[in-house]
Amino acid sequence: TMAHSKALLVLENFIAGKFVPCSSYIDSYNPSTGDVYCRVPDSGKEEVEAAVKAAKNAFPIWSSKSPLERSQILNKLADLIEHDLEAFAQAESKDQGKTITFARTVDIPRAVYNFRFFASSILHHTTECTEMATIGCVHYTSRAPVGVAGLISPWNLPLYLLTWKIAPAIACGNTVVAKPSEMTSVTAWMMCKLLEKAGVPHGVVNVVFGTGAKAGEALVCHPDVPLISFTGSTLTAQRIVEKSAPHCKRLSLELGGKNPAIVFDDADLSQCIPTTLRSSFANQGEICLCTSRIFVQRGIYSEFLKRFVAEAKKWKAGNPSDPTVDVGALISKEHLEKVRSYVKKAQAEGARVHCGEGVDPLALPTGNQKGYFMLPTVIAEVKDESCCMQEEIFGPVTCVVEFDTEEEVIERANRVKYGLAATVWSSNVGRVHRVAQRLQSGLVWTNCWLVRDLNLPFGGMKASGIGREGAKDSYEFFTEVKTITIKH
Ligand code: NAD
Repeated sequence: TMAHSKALLVLENFIAGKFVPCSSYIDSYNPSTGDVYCRVPDSGKEEVEAAVKAAKNAFPIWSSKSPLERSQILNKLADLIEHDLEAFAQAESKDQGKTITFARTVDIPRAVYNFRFFASSILHHTTECTEMATIGCVHYTSRAPVGVAGLISPWNLPLYLLTWKIAPAIACGNTVVAKPSEMTSVTAWMMCKLLEKAGVPHGVVNVVFGTGAKAGEALVCHPDVPLISFTGSTLTAQRIVEKSAPHCKRLSLELGGKNPAIVFDDADLSQCIPTTLRSSFANQGEICLCTSRIFVQRGIYSEFLKRFVAEAKKWKAGNPSDPTVDVGALISKEHLEKVRSYVKKAQAEGARVHCGEGVDPLALPTGNQKGYFMLPTVIAEVKDESCCMQEEIFGPVTCVVEFDTEEEVIERANRVKYGLAATVWSSNVGRVHRVAQRLQSGLVWTNCWLVRDLNLPFGGMKASGIGREGAKDSYEFFTEVKTITIKH
């Protein structure tokens, strides 16, 4: 009806400092109600072409600004987003299905901090210099921005992950064409409204909305985009590698995980259990760093499982805008069905589901009956070879299994294709070091989870990615280095 279509939020691409409509649109759903509430541009080659052109035009001016000038603009943008934090948090929660509490305390504060962090770190890099005194030579390195950066981000932490790319890219003097996930485009569009006020010159940040297959691929294939920073699934990354190969593009790939938690019998369970609940179920388990394989040493297995399940049952699902709710909606109907299918497969294999999906009743408010909800689900008695122990499920599902020895658990934890993050729980310092060293994982947290210092490298090994992000790593990725030799 007219009234219905009038109420829809309609996004526009942001190119050369202007909002421009698109010839076709994609429906975007509110995951907590199942309603279409927004229309997202279905951009393709033409829109990407215009955005790359704008970014190329803006590059000479932006790249010649001093780091301090760029830093001041990034800080201003951080202030503006922070000023609208509540509006951004509400929008992220509605668009993604995550709880308002998570959006308020994690997503948007981190987006603000991403700009502040790179505004600061860009001022503190130094380059290398060596001398060959006997032949009168000095060598030094110099770093310059690369050009137009293509940035592609996923739907789980929309503004958080997009700004984790935009901030270092522009701090280094590049101009960007960003493509957020077609399922979560609203907060990126809101951010575009603040760019001019922050002092970001037209064309420095361009945002093209649309699907991966059309808009994403057009960006990956564009000959004037020499680098692509991608966060998303391993399958999509394989496609990006293939498509960018003819141009030998520089790639940063942050991909999926199948992250283990290893709980030794000397672990402090009063810390381990609440943290492992968060690491399994925060943001509906839709975080690349979420734990999905919990290895518990035999002596404490029964106690751990009992306490863990009892606590998991306390997580309340409901309207994400209710601040007392712990579990919001999953991103889409298709994704919910995929996550549920893993639980069914586990049951068919003889595993036991201790709580959540198919076991506990899901009581939802009237307005959320058609939303994509699922309770925290704990699976036990599952084999290491099971797809639930091998594949990334990316939902509120975690498996708990027993182990006996340190040697055994390291081998089993490593026996997956992924290598993003791991947690180790033990009060034995020597053991914690030994295990951390041997895990095939880009990040290892011991006796904690998701404690981050953005200065340090972030990223995965094996099928979890190529490259690292962080103060120094992002600086190196987003700049081209040159070695210059001076002889007198
Ligand atoms: P996805 O790979 O389906 O999509 C990610 C982005 O890529 C989206 O913007 C999508 O439109 C785009 N895309 C899809 N196909 C494309 C193509 N052919 N060419 C160019 N772009 C394309 O991933 P998703 O489902 O949005 O996100 C979930 C995945 O992201 C999970 O696997 C998760 O582990 C991973 N992830 C990783 C990290 C990390 O830092 N390692 C962080 C968050 C999420």
